[in-house]
Amino acid sequence: MPIQFKNHFTSKLPADSILENTRRQVENAMFSYVNPMKTSNPKLLHVSDKLCAELGIKHSETKSNEFLKIVTGNKVAETSKPYAMNYGGHQFGHWAGQLGDGRAINLGEIEYNQRRWSLQLKGAGPTPYSRQGDGLAVLRSSIREYLCSEAMHHLNIPTTRALSLALTGDKVLRDIMYNGNAAYEQGAVVCRVSPSFLRFGNYEIFSARNDITSLQTLVNYTITEHFSYLGKPNKKSYVEFFREVANKTLHLVLEWQRVGFVHGVMNTDNMSILGLTIDYGPYGWLEGFDLGWTPNTTDKQNKRYRYGNQPSIALWNLYQLANALYPLIEEATPLEEVLESYKQDYLADSLQMMRNKLGLISNKQEDEKLVQNLESLLQKVETDMTLFFRELSNFSGKNSKDGFNIIQKAFYNLDELTKELKEEWHAWFDQYKNRLSVESTSFEKRKKLMHQTNPKYVLRNYMAQLAIEKAENGDYSLIDELYQLLKNPYEEQPDREKWYSKRPEWARHKIGCSMLSCSS
Ligand code: AMP
Ligand code: MG
Repeated sequence: MPIQFKNHFTSKLPADSILENTRRQVENAMFSYVNPMKTSNPKLLHVSDKLCAELGIKHSETKSNEFLKIVTGNKVAETSKPYAMNYGGHQFGHWAGQLGDGRAINLGEIEYNQRRWSLQLKGAGPTPYSRQGDGLAVLRSSIREYLCSEAMHHLNIPTTRALSLALTGDKVLRDIMYNGNAAYEQGAVVCRVSPSFLRFGNYEIFSARNDITSLQTLVNYTITEHFSYLGKPNKKSYVEFFREVANKTLHLVLEWQRVGFVHGVMNTDNMSILGLTIDYGPYGWLEGFDLGWTPNTTDKQNKRYRYGNQPSIALWNLYQLANALYPLIEEATPLEEVLESYKQDYLADSLQMMRNKLGLISNKQEDEKLVQNLESLLQKVETDMTLFFRELSNFSGKNSKDGFNIIQKAFYNLDELTKELKEEWHAWFDQYKNRLSVESTSFEKRKKLMHQTNPKYVLRNYMAQLAIEKAENGDYSLIDELYQLLKNPYEEQPDREKWYSKRPEWARHKIGCSMLSCSS
């Protein structure tokens, strides 16, 4: 059966009256109708079977030519009325004006099992919001987005999803490191899926233009569709809406911190109103635990979006959203209260998150110190975050001297561990052992709990890069291998143990592994 699209978003909200696909400022409208571009030789590389099941799409349907054409933009389904969304955003701390879906084209929604999902093609051609861009995406960034979206979902971290990854058959010109070395790469399209693709920037654009009517229309729509439990849209529910967004955003960032995910470009146009991870660009995963690390070379100078800064950047972004919503609420105090509670909640929740990582069930005053000491030790020499926490679950708590041996494989270079440093580790394990002794959980139970909090497998940057290099040479097998591996990130997978290891040395300074830019 052909995919049946609903057009909920477009039927409820004002459209751009101009139908021509020319780059321009779009006023008083939430979106512009635009058709995806035809491509010369579309080829499907992978489909998420898990997401298909959630959307009610049968495996056999994904094999059809119809499916291929729809998810690459080569056919517009009869029920679909494609469009690009209008939004603005603060980029790297500055208001950037209108941005919008410059290379994403929405197909409409699928309703299945009482859920509504929006489908969107990333890289399917230019739109009125494309500015200087070509509206296209390359294979490497599409593989990264495809694999990571699904991996995050299986880590139980809120995220937009990815249904399919396809080649367009066309070439795309990119200057990967922005250093004058432009080259042609293979074009690709990812079909992204989410309950909504609304971002903070969708609200900011109307506020910045003092178009309060549109702002209110959009906020009312968002509350009615996505936060209906807050009741009818009014001043009170606007504040509650903001509180919900703040809570969801806080939860999201804590989840990133838990697994060592660095988004890389936390501009307000990349902040989902539903608190989902959105827009996978130059993201990365911590290997050595380092609060100062960012994978994004475009942000090398200020490291605004470094790992340790993500919680405060999320708060900064919430301030921008509060400013945008202010004209509807006309009172600063309730908004300020929400922002203030974010700070308080962050302190309590991040400590709780670390307790979970350490397998501590009860709350004790000394936990804060235990965590601080650990974070400082982890940064003294390069120590692999994923390996460290996973191995830590093997510590029985009986003898603190065992601790260091248990976590040894997390160190990148054992020679760096001076006698003093080893002593510091022994002292920390002493502290941890004492703390465990007042817990009532058994070693086995704690281990199980820790395994649910500390993933064994994450999409390390070099892993995605290996899949990319193979795919660029026509071998797509590693995409599936990683997709399958990352379906069960918390489980032991003995036959896939090779992916449970530190980043190899060759990847340390390699483009695509430790260095990524916004070029995609
Ligand atoms: P990003 O940093 O990838 O989230 O993108 C920021 C803005 O630039 C968004 O409005 C994107 O739609 C737009 N953009 C990024 N790449 C392209 C491209 N190749 N063509 C058109 N617009 C783009
Ligand atoms: Mg973006």
